[in-house]
Amino acid sequence: MNLQTTLNEVASEVRSLLGKGSVANYIPALAIADPTKFAMAIATVQGDVFCVGDCDELFSIQSISKVFALTQAFKILDSDLWRRVDRENAGSEFNSLLALELSAGIPRNPLSNAGAIVTTDVILTERGKETKASLLEFFRVRSGNMSIDFNEEIAQLESEHGRRTKALAYLIASFKNLENHPQTVSMLYFYQCAMEASCVDLARSLLFLANKGVCPISQEHVISASQAKRINSILLTCGHYDVSGDFAFRVGLPGKSCVSGAIAALVPGKMAIAAWSPALNKDGVSLVASAALEIFATKTGLSVF
Ligand code: GLU
Repeated sequence: MNLQTTLNEVASEVRSLLGKGSVANYIPALAIADPTKFAMAIATVQGDVFCVGDCDELFSIQSISKVFALTQAFKILDSDLWRRVDRENAGSEFNSLLALELSAGIPRNPLSNAGAIVTTDVILTERGKETKASLLEFFRVRSGNMSIDFNEEIAQLESEHGRRTKALAYLIASFKNLENHPQTVSMLYFYQCAMEASCVDLARSLLFLANKGVCPISQEHVISASQAKRINSILLTCGHYDVSGDFAFRVGLPGKSCVSGAIAALVPGKMAIAAWSPALNKDGVSLVASAALEIFATKTGLSVF
């Protein structure tokens, strides 16, 4: 299979969809994104990289950062993490306060905003003042790109507009499922959302999940093979808000969507894929990136099923 040829074909097949859907508009930095942009990159566990489209463009990785926070918290607490966060599909809005109230402060899964607040709290307890720098370092080392950085303006805007996320943090704290101050944890969450990268960076950074927990870039054993398997299963069942089932049905790969229009997906044992196009469908998932991944999976037959 020639992956570059396949990517080129995918790019030409999605071209007619560019411009459909609408970009997130809750902060200006996302609202000004050009909906006609598209990029897709593949990083293989052998070290090859293929890309098509606007592969040098940087975007904030938003909710995809929850995968890194989950990885680090899981490494710290191992199975004790599941006392503090569940692993069931939310079946409700990704930032629902109601769901959290009903579950007595235990977020339904680590890929919801509430779940990311808990995983970030775990990391903060372990690392204290080093936390913010270490979150960035994790992404940099995984991708092999030490110039990845926070977008300070986006972090501040996320915080300004993230009232509901802050409310979730306070509600979790009210159930005594937070060890640090809700404001501090929320701010660290907003900073993670504001890490900026390209599709190539994103694909490379997630390779450890396709490689039984070993980062092929740094050769580090990031997590165990069993932990990688569990994270992939959570990505499959919970990675796309309350339309995770639809993504699994159409694409058949573990993955994570985010509000800036990026989607990352894993083919275990083989590769990590990132696709990006800013305009979202009605469910908040990138319209073109999800179509691109569906076409890619269909053309190549790559799927976990
Ligand atoms: N910064 C966004 C939020 O917390 C991330 C959401 C997303 O990418 O889904 O609401």
